[in-house]
Amino acid sequence: MIHRFPNYYKEFSCIADKCEATCCAGWQIVVDEDSLKKYKKVTGPFKQRIKDGVDFKEGVFYQNPGKRCAFLNQQNLCDMYTALGEDSFCETCRRYPRHIEEFENVREFTLSASCPEAARILLSQKEPVRFYEVEIEADEEEFDDYDPMVYEKLLEARGEMLKLLQNRNIPVKERAAGLWDFIQIFQKEMDEGTLFADDKIYEKLIQRDPETSYEEAKALFSLLHNLEFLADDWEETLGKAEGLLYGKEADTYQSIKNDFDSWKAVNFPDWDIMTEQLLVYFITTYFCGAVYDEYVASKVKMSVCSVFYIEELATAQWVKNSGTLSDAEFTRIVYRYSRELEHSDENLITMDRMMEEI
Ligand code: SF4
Repeated sequence: MIHRFPNYYKEFSCIADKCEATCCAGWQIVVDEDSLKKYKKVTGPFKQRIKDGVDFKEGVFYQNPGKRCAFLNQQNLCDMYTALGEDSFCETCRRYPRHIEEFENVREFTLSASCPEAARILLSQKEPVRFYEVEIEADEEEFDDYDPMVYEKLLEARGEMLKLLQNRNIPVKERAAGLWDFIQIFQKEMDEGTLFADDKIYEKLIQRDPETSYEEAKALFSLLHNLEFLADDWEETLGKAEGLLYGKEADTYQSIKNDFDSWKAVNFPDWDIMTEQLLVYFITTYFCGAVYDEYVASKVKMSVCSVFYIEELATAQWVKNSGTLSDAEFTRIVYRYSRELEHSDENLITMDRMMEEI
């Protein structure tokens, strides 16, 4: 089996109690069957704690106020890890923030941008991200049936899209706009059954001038209200951003965007690189998953829109700060957005469906 990784994958190591937003709070941690069986066998002083902390019926850890995992102590360290060691971790805790996508004979690994440290590593990559493969003796595979020819086509298309995405001779917004146009053609040909006969399809993968009007931006941003909110203050965060960006007339919005662009050019010179890394992250994580539902366009649109949402939130933060934005604030926006979208299957499905409509 082939295991595929982004080149920065091994840079990750959990910063535990130094993490500003532990992954052990904010959402319910689902416990796999094997771990539940293991927890039932725990004896000794930790047995009662297991009984109090594990909801065996629902297969989750109970939560304390603040949606904190029942095993997370006040120092943001895991009491189960301290008492029983690393082997006691359930599958979710052992894997996170490693995200795995399964295909026949291929397993693709990424680091979820919802983890502050993983987001920091992703955004600190200066060179175009490369992927490397390791051949592993076949182990248990967990994938649903799909058409291998479609998978090969998606893999090929993803490679071509990454070439455009990582072409730094073109402004990143033009690369993203080009992707948006291309994938609609690709989807249309896929739906009509002409895709495999079109050997010139990638000639349609070209940059274009991005144009997003005030009305379009406002409408696009408002779609985020259709998702379930995971963090208690996320809805408020969105509302405040909307007030700062779209609360006045179109001219004000345009002038904020122009001023932010000018500020970034001087004070945030790696903006385009960070945006590229985010686009590459979303495309590599989700695009090939379209082999299971053939909604290819929605995966790319979700990637492009995600970068748009992150930029809008960053612009709002910049306005709120009276014209400044730190790297740490940008990283916080990225991992918070990622948590809201990527840590809810319901949100990923809703986003996919919304993207089909636009
Ligand atoms: S969010 Fe990331 S860095 Fe923070 S505690 Fe979890 S795995 Fe560690």
